[in-house]
Amino acid sequence: MDFTLPEELELLRQSARKFAEEEIAPHAQDWDREAYFPDPMIKKLGDQGFMGILIPEAYGGAACGYMAFAIILEELARHDGGLALAVEAHNGLCCQHILIGGNEEQKRKYLPPLAAGDRIGSWCLTEPNSGSDAIAMQTTAVRDGDGWILNGAKQFITNGHRAGTFVVMAVTDGAASPRGITAFVVERDTPGLSTGKREEKLGMRSSDTVVVTLDNVRVPDSQRLGAENQGFHDVKKVLEHGRVMICAISQGFARGALEEAAKYSLERTAFGKPIRSFQSIQNKIADIAVHVEAGRLMLYHAAHLLELGQCSVHKAAMTKLFITEMATRSCMEAIQILGGYGYLRDYNVERYMRDAKLCEIGEGTSEVMRILISRTLEEQGVY
Ligand SMILES: Cc1cc2nc3c(=O)[nH]c(=O)nc-3n(C[C@H](O)[C@H](O)[C@H](O)COP(=O)(O)OP(=O)(O)OC[C@H]3O[C@@H](n4cnc5c(N)ncnc54)[C@H](O)[C@@H]3O)c2cc1C
Repeated sequence: MDFTLPEELELLRQSARKFAEEEIAPHAQDWDREAYFPDPMIKKLGDQGFMGILIPEAYGGAACGYMAFAIILEELARHDGGLALAVEAHNGLCCQHILIGGNEEQKRKYLPPLAAGDRIGSWCLTEPNSGSDAIAMQTTAVRDGDGWILNGAKQFITNGHRAGTFVVMAVTDGAASPRGITAFVVERDTPGLSTGKREEKLGMRSSDTVVVTLDNVRVPDSQRLGAENQGFHDVKKVLEHGRVMICAISQGFARGALEEAAKYSLERTAFGKPIRSFQSIQNKIADIAVHVEAGRLMLYHAAHLLELGQCSVHKAAMTKLFITEMATRSCMEAIQILGGYGYLRDYNVERYMRDAKLCEIGEGTSEVMRILISRTLEEQGVY
């Protein structure tokens, strides 16, 4: 067992860190206030290879794998969670689904522009009346000659405002098990597809989140991803991967909380001493540091298992539950260490806390993660 990161991943971390420090950090507070990051960032991310991290070279990607993806997401999220979420939803959900469910022709058609950052992708599962209970979705796709007609609405769709490619889940046979769901690729300019206003959010504000409406959207059968009525199997696979990758974003916040709190504790004085000299402050910082270290080990182990094709639902759920909740707690503690300044928008830690909260909800809530973990423990005879 070797816990050392290979040299190429260390180099990747250095270059992702440099990119994030130079291109993201100076703007992150403004993007949070304006609730948007500029469109040219997508191409810049593409030029770095960050928009095709998991995509094989044959389709224009960087084919770096899950460890590399985790490292990049942590570095991006260290400075801007919204941008990291946009990159995660694009790679980890949209592109990932095309990789899992798409045939050769579909991969050749859709993946190269996504990998280059010429367009960004969205993944549309959640609906106004179905989130955790995703198979209760009401969007339908009905056969129409050599194609399908899609009708319905998708809620909370990351990147939806500017996405060029949407992967959309719809019910094709309500009687099939588990409720016949099929995935389709829908391109932006397809008549009947429209997107709503950008939602006003607590955190992850630089990423756009919208309602996507499908009003008699016709797609040819060649845009069906995977087998008819079997889409939910692919959705579960996508989520299993996505749940680990969203942890990398949380890991970035936790590390940010640690670094910013430690720095502040050296600069701020109270009662004639840097607050770092108070044992209660040292304890808080030590606790955050331990949690960051534990989170990183869990994240890298889960990412390693993803690369081997051995990451279970249980493992992904445990990793997501621990890291996402740990990150929110760490950010709250960082705010406490900064005192009143921690509560101001001028400092980063309150933004990290607002961003971190989303990761306990998106791609499966903490409550759902606990259910999945308990279910496996029961199967294992633990209780
Ligand atoms: C900023 C943002 C971006 C998002 N991006 C995307 C995206 O790109 N694509 C996409 O498809 N979706 C996206 N989502 C949706 C997200 O995945 C859902 O919000 C999430 O799965 C929870 O679903 P819900 O909001 O409908 O909550 P609900 O499922 O209605 O849950 C409400 C509460 O009930 C609890 N609950 C539900 N069922 C159970 C149960 N069986 N036992 C115990 N407790 C339960 C939940 O844990 C939660 O606390 C995004 C959401 C946000 C906020």
